[in-house]
Amino acid sequence: MDIFKPLDLSKDSQKPDIESAEKVRCLIIGSGPAGYTAAIYAARANLKPVLYTGLQMGGQLTTTTDVENFPGYPDGVTGPVMMEDLRKQAERFGAEIRFGIATKADFSGRIHKVIIDENKVIEADAIIIATGATARYLGLEAELRYSGMGVSACATCDGFFYKGKDVAVVGGGDTAAEEATYLAGLCRKVYLVVRRNVLRASKAMQGKVLNTHNIEVLWEHQAVDLFGEDGVEGVVLVKKKGTPQEEIVKMKIDGFFLAVGHTPNSDVFKEFIETNETGYIKTLPGSTKTNISGIFAAGDVQDPVYRQAVTAAGSGCMAAIEAERYLSELHS
Ligand code: FAD
Ligand code: NAP
Repeated sequence: MDIFKPLDLSKDSQKPDIESAEKVRCLIIGSGPAGYTAAIYAARANLKPVLYTGLQMGGQLTTTTDVENFPGYPDGVTGPVMMEDLRKQAERFGAEIRFGIATKADFSGRIHKVIIDENKVIEADAIIIATGATARYLGLEAELRYSGMGVSACATCDGFFYKGKDVAVVGGGDTAAEEATYLAGLCRKVYLVVRRNVLRASKAMQGKVLNTHNIEVLWEHQAVDLFGEDGVEGVVLVKKKGTPQEEIVKMKIDGFFLAVGHTPNSDVFKEFIETNETGYIKTLPGSTKTNISGIFAAGDVQDPVYRQAVTAAGSGCMAAIEAERYLSELHS
């Protein structure tokens, strides 16, 4: 299904039901920290924002346990609770939160259009794209073969099923370190499969991993296959790939967790909005403005560098303020 093409209104079959087109001043797409913060600011500025949540209401943080670095929570907070707080705060000021997915966009005319769930047309004067990022996989055929049968990209969602068992986590960043630490609290043994001889994770997270007795870091290992009858029973690794010491290692595990980064969710808008080579939406330096007037981007979808809840929230605030200024100029 090609859901990324602009609307071709010359073709009857592609004509949206114009009767159902709804006009809004400010449309926000995405319900992570960026989207909800934009909604709080836009609602308080009386822009009457309509926010579509996408499939993952609350965004990436709903897949994690403790968030300890978001200002304002001295004792930490769980990701789902924090996102629920943000939603309530946006609704308190009148933001309209709706469940729906942006499936097409047409930014070719003066009025920007977004199609929700392939059938509802929203026309908006200003749009804030806050669609975040999605977990990446290695691209192994085995990941598909064992999907839902031992392969997961979310330890907090699926870790429970591996209580007392042995698992592998692939990756060397903060997510991998966090997932490995979380799983170590449930599982008998956690192998952290790292392709280089260093971790990308912050020093604090590295400390946690290296000081957890049942986490074993497999340096310079790459997962190339999985095996098992009715689910994952083991992983095939290549140690020191491409060197004279290259070695195939087969290990028994019950669960295979991916934590190898994320891809920005920009495909729906790419036809019109400029992105970099990896799909991150380009914004003007120090701004959330995109190449199209009236369209702003906030959060992880435009941030290949920081990718934190607080920076996403900060850019959501910027986007709403910039949208408000744009709209007042538009109507003056
Ligand atoms: P996201 O949170 O990615 O939300 C994107 C939203 O867009 C979702 O609601 C999704 O449903 C919606 N969406 C996507 N496509 C569409 C579409 N087509 N139509 C409509 N809606 C759409 N950061 C920290 O600061 N502290 C932490 O402790 C921390 N822990 C983390 C733990 C994990 C496991 C992960 C994966 C990340 C963690 N991060 C943490 C990073 C943080 O979660 C992100 O930086 C932040 O969530 C980005 O916010 P966002 O609003 O840009 O997007
Ligand atoms: P990331 O920082 O991009 O790290 C991805 C990791 O996966 C890297 O170690 C990378 O290896 C590895 N990797 C990528 N492709 C691979 C492949 N094909 N095979 C093997 N390994 C592969 O992603 P992240 O860990 O998801 O973090 C994203 C952002 O969220 C970061 O900014 C992070 O700080 C933030 N975050 C913060 C917290 C926290 O503050 N508590 C928690 C989670 C995430 P290389 O290192 O070799 O490139």
